[in-house]
Amino acid sequence: MIRLVRAGLVLLLATGAVQAAEPVFQGPFTQGGLVQGRAASGSSVTLDGERVPVSEEGVFLLGFGRDAPPRVDVAIIEKTGTIWHRTFNIKPRRYDVQRVNGLPEQTVTPDPEGLKRIAADRAQIVSVRNQETLVPFFLSGFQWPAIGPISGVFGSQRILNGQPRAPHNGVDVAAPVGTPIVAASDGVVVLAEPDMVLTGKTVLIDHGLGLTTNYLHMSELNVKPGERVTKGQMIGRIGATGRVSGPHLHWGATLHQTAIDPALLVGPMPSSP
Ligand SMILES: [Zn+2]
Repeated sequence: MIRLVRAGLVLLLATGAVQAAEPVFQGPFTQGGLVQGRAASGSSVTLDGERVPVSEEGVFLLGFGRDAPPRVDVAIIEKTGTIWHRTFNIKPRRYDVQRVNGLPEQTVTPDPEGLKRIAADRAQIVSVRNQETLVPFFLSGFQWPAIGPISGVFGSQRILNGQPRAPHNGVDVAAPVGTPIVAASDGVVVLAEPDMVLTGKTVLIDHGLGLTTNYLHMSELNVKPGERVTKGQMIGRIGATGRVSGPHLHWGATLHQTAIDPALLVGPMPSSP
């Protein structure tokens, strides 16, 4: 009997300790950064007043775009009623200007028919990014999806065929047509399209809690929508489809609709496969 009471007391203390645990944050609070948070199970989370999806275990993601503001407020309400408030400074970054020439002119200044197709492609991508999976597949970690020289970085101002265009929202890896591309982390393929105007053969993988990665300009698709993939699994090959001046993989990552810097998810580029 005494033993049972003691066991109960230890359990009570242990539970008490879990409830008092402060939320933890891991990752760079910088423009383009992705931060992983963990709070008590059943908590609700907001970032600057906007609801953030939370997994059953209390895992959530905060993403900061290219031009994220200098400060953000995070509020966490535990199911016990305990409220945590945190303010974080977001480190600003400087971005270069990148000039790209030799792109097919109809992809830089499209005709009305091209514009219509681009808008339809865009709507399809926005709609798959709106799906919300509460499973944190990304806990398997991240790796580079292809090995090769980096020919374009996140955030650059872009001048395409002499025309100012939207900033670059991913990382470019230049490698020959046919070089294997693998999934950067565990997830579910939510889009595998053979012919998009700007992005060519295109794959999007949902890693859970609003995080997706995208793989563009491929020469070959090896996956289908709905397919569960694991980190390092081959999903296709590098190509030169869509708006490109040569073969490369454009690798992007977004949290909901905000592009973040995929290079910050992984270490330095390995020197050989
Ligand atoms: Zn690119």
